[in-house]
Amino acid sequence: MNDHALLTEINARRDDLIALTQDLIRIPTLNPPGQKYREICAYLAERLERSGFNVEMIRAKGAVGDSDKYPRWNLVARHEGTRAGDCVHFNSHHDVVEVGHGWTRDPFGGALEGDKIYGRGACDMKGGLAASIIAAEAFITLYPDHPGAIEISATADEESGGFGGVAYLAQQGYFDPDRVQHVIIPEPLNKDRICLGHRGVWWAEIETKGRIAHGSMPFLGDSAIRHMSAVLAEMEAYLFPLLATKHTDMPVVPDGAKQSTLNINSIHGGEAEQDTDYTGLPVPCVADRCRIIIDRRFLLEEDLAEVKAEVTGMLERLKSTRPNFEYDIRDMHEVIPTMTAEDAPIVTATAAAIQRVLNTRAEYVVSPGTYDQKHIDRIGRLKNCIAYGPGILDLAHQPDEWIGVQDMIDSAGVMGLVLVDLLKV
Ligand SMILES: [Zn+2]
Repeated sequence: MNDHALLTEINARRDDLIALTQDLIRIPTLNPPGQKYREICAYLAERLERSGFNVEMIRAKGAVGDSDKYPRWNLVARHEGTRAGDCVHFNSHHDVVEVGHGWTRDPFGGALEGDKIYGRGACDMKGGLAASIIAAEAFITLYPDHPGAIEISATADEESGGFGGVAYLAQQGYFDPDRVQHVIIPEPLNKDRICLGHRGVWWAEIETKGRIAHGSMPFLGDSAIRHMSAVLAEMEAYLFPLLATKHTDMPVVPDGAKQSTLNINSIHGGEAEQDTDYTGLPVPCVADRCRIIIDRRFLLEEDLAEVKAEVTGMLERLKSTRPNFEYDIRDMHEVIPTMTAEDAPIVTATAAAIQRVLNTRAEYVVSPGTYDQKHIDRIGRLKNCIAYGPGILDLAHQPDEWIGVQDMIDSAGVMGLVLVDLLKV
């Protein structure tokens, strides 16, 4: 195979890659609320049609987040080869998170300074989307009669769970194994790292119950906050130490996430907090309700039922030992952990391409949090999926987010060689 011709072709498209990345950044696809989704899909549709793709714009009608004011638009583009073969799919989310404070550049200006392009979404992940498009276009120019197919999708709402994006497309069959065989999600994991999957998630709300009474005579009531403090004390004494003993063989980064973790996302009890312009005093009451939301991240080695039983077992023990302790627990959200095998074709092809382009061994990692691979795995039943793309993970969602042009060129080279390998040209 002629690596050199393809890498030269990609390098020759540097100006096009820069302009494409800037154009994408200049469409402010903020989520929430989910704006300009149709505009960015239409922009990509026009470009990819020119490059010979068949394009479909798909609205996730009725999905979580979809409304007539903020419709959830997605784009799927497919370049059909001239004979049978596998399909390689590049999936990028087109939404970006809020701007936040601390910017010294226009967050939607796409300024090029030296090797860096600045803007919200530059790194997460419009740079990765642009790199995958350049890789595919360069490949098609050199191998117009390739076998199989190449797909590029730009999908909504990854930052808010992906239900109006990849989950919807997976439900419609777009990731069925008979349609797509290999998936790369160009999230910013650094150009020499392959992300195999992610840990699992369980969110739940725990409520303790009490009885309201006058605050001057708390003995006539029963404080739900004191009951919750017993829950928190039990977590400190028993649950957190237990989680610290649970280590994973998954190569999760950073190191602190190589074990089970639990975050108490919020706590609220008693009288509602007033607006900041309220100048009155609170009223004296015993809190009759207290709620926390827990965010438990679990490992491939753990079973979700056991993860839940640790918490409910702890609450049941309190119920049998603490007078008048009553609680409710409500499941809010769950994601099963996933990890693609290191000998899966998409992994071995990408690792070999990283070796050739960057002359370094690929590092395998697993993400502490989830991303759209969860839907491709669970709904699409497709296991041959990784995240691989340019950009420094730590810059995601930060002020002055940027993407390096050379990093995009290099990772486009890797993606192009993956096409050569998996489409067997
Ligand atoms: Zn992302």
